Amino acid sequence: MESVSQIAPELSAGSTAALTRSAAPLSVVEITQFDQMLAGMVAYYPHQEIPSETMEQFRWELRRLAEIHGLPALREAMLSLRRRPHQKFFPHPNDVQGELEAMATRAKQKAEKSLPPLGCVVCRESVAIGLVPIERNGERCVEMCECRKAREAARKEIANTWGC
Ligand SMILES: [Zn+2]
Repeated sequence: MESVSQIAPELSAGSTAALTRSAAPLSVVEITQFDQMLAGMVAYYPHQEIPSETMEQFRWELRRLAEIHGLPALREAMLSLRRRPHQKFFPHPNDVQGELEAMATRAKQKAEKSLPPLGCVVCRESVAIGLVPIERNGERCVEMCECRKAREAARKEIANTWGC
């Protein structure tokens, strides 16, 4: 029987969107790509003998990280670590996790810097920046300006992706 994640990955991923990142199981194709990436990393350190029990533990931890952060992010983190001049050994999963978290922090900061600006030609001259006066059922009140709506939506997206 097919699981929900196989039929509609976006559904099962969306249900845990409140977490830092949803942990979605890797697809069969992704597992193949993941194992190829690991084999490439092992080949990169020809002088290091990694015991098979250790490699099995590493594989398990790294796969968990791929499920949380996504395979492309894991690949980026592994490449970034192996390019470091002092990285003479296959990176420990804890170091990979540290790199992934640093990458996520940088991405979040970048997204926060590029939030749509608050205040536009419509609201700048009105009651308050980000608010526009409207008339509803004969009563005067204020409503969020489009610029503030766009900013709030972008902020929500950041919170969904990287956590608050
Ligand atoms: Zn505005």
